[in-house]
Amino acid sequence: MIKNLFKRVFGKPAKVRAEGKCRIIPFDLHHVSRDGISPAARRVTDGLQAAGFSAFVVGGAVRDLLLDRHPKDFDVATNATPEDVKRVFRRSRIIGRRFRLVHVMFGDETVEVSTFRRMIEAEDAQTDEHGRLLRDNEFGDQEQDAARRDFTANALFYDPATQEICDYHNGYADIRANTLRMIGEPAVRYREDPVRMLRAVRLSAKLGMKLDAATAAPIAGMKELLANVPQARLLDEMLKLLLSGHAVECIKKLRAMDLHHGMLPMLDVILEQPMGEKFVMLALENTDQRIREDKPVSPAFLFAALLWHEVLSDWKTQQDAGERPVAALHTAMGAVLDRQREQLAIPHRHDAVMKEIWLMQPRFEQRGGLRPLRLLELQRFRAAYDFLLLRCESGEVDAELGQWWEEFQHATDERRAEMLLPDTGGAKKRRRRRKKPVGAGVQAELPIE
Ligand code: ATP
Ligand code: MG
Repeated sequence: MIKNLFKRVFGKPAKVRAEGKCRIIPFDLHHVSRDGISPAARRVTDGLQAAGFSAFVVGGAVRDLLLDRHPKDFDVATNATPEDVKRVFRRSRIIGRRFRLVHVMFGDETVEVSTFRRMIEAEDAQTDEHGRLLRDNEFGDQEQDAARRDFTANALFYDPATQEICDYHNGYADIRANTLRMIGEPAVRYREDPVRMLRAVRLSAKLGMKLDAATAAPIAGMKELLANVPQARLLDEMLKLLLSGHAVECIKKLRAMDLHHGMLPMLDVILEQPMGEKFVMLALENTDQRIREDKPVSPAFLFAALLWHEVLSDWKTQQDAGERPVAALHTAMGAVLDRQREQLAIPHRHDAVMKEIWLMQPRFEQRGGLRPLRLLELQRFRAAYDFLLLRCESGEVDAELGQWWEEFQHATDERRAEMLLPDTGGAKKRRRRRKKPVGAGVQAELPIE
């Protein structure tokens, strides 16, 4: 009876159709409508199909739509070569040396289009001495393209024209069962590319999917392979993880699986100091929250937070050795950044902002004269203040300091004048002469010793 009722309400139950080795999951079953695909990605698949090629939305976007999540971006896979794609779309460019992709631009949206590729057969494959694939850049067909992907949930092809999903590896059923499962033999796939171990942790934390037992099992015994992965790739993966909106969970999982050593070398040390751990976890919670609220987060802020306790401890050592506070802070920052760079290749371009945030911290302690007003004018004040709040929350500095700055920055001129502590420094004279706070454009200054 219930069956009949269903039939009446929803029509005939949808059937899964097999086409070659690919199961076709019809719209009636998965309910992902073409409207869920970004306009630019739709134009790309429509354009390629009109030119006689096959084209699908692939990877994370299809998975996310099936999980009722908002995809970060839409990637397209096609049997057209990069040159073909470029001919079809006027505003497009071929990028990448290792594997050539095409970026197709519509308005301010960019769609990444990749030609189907295949895994290179074992005997032709170039690997390093640990079995890591050095290249996988051969063109292939759709079936081969599915097989070279990592998880079954990531290997679905969605055709916006028919609204059908093509599924070679049972990814649809795995998604419905909330399971992240490696395609093929997990140990082999981790050896080919150890970063897949980190992806397993990140994606299962981010998507709330459980790791299939056979997919999780080899990780403990293979984690050393991460040491052979080029630093730039590890950093990329680490950034994805930290900016996933689920960093706290990812780090907890990494630690539970003992994978954080390869990933965040300095984090090992930091997490062992109770104060450092509290601070890092608070910083990550804060980042997760911002990402969920669609607020911008800066990698430099995050790196500054991750390395802060290291800076603090070096700073103290330098001062104990007799260096003056500001000089000691400069020495400590330089030393920490150099050490970290050896291990994790944090790009130089973040240095300036990280240093600004760190250098402003001691200046928050100075609440007399014009100094607080000058601090407020700095371009990086907001970031440095957020950083101060994390320090307060973690118990490193008195909460009262954060409260003072919270009130001071929003207070009227009169109230600010009341709040300023008596100035004992040399800035007194200047305060008398100047009526207004110093204007914008003041760069980060050193704390006055
Ligand atoms: P996210 O939502 O974080 O972007 P994603 O699954 O889309 O997750 P991407 O790094 O954007 O991750 O990769 C796009 C697709 O490329 C994946 O869905 C997967 O099919 C494939 N892929 C990415 N990295 C690997 C890898 N290391 N090995 C095999 N396939 C991979
Ligand atoms: Mg993606």
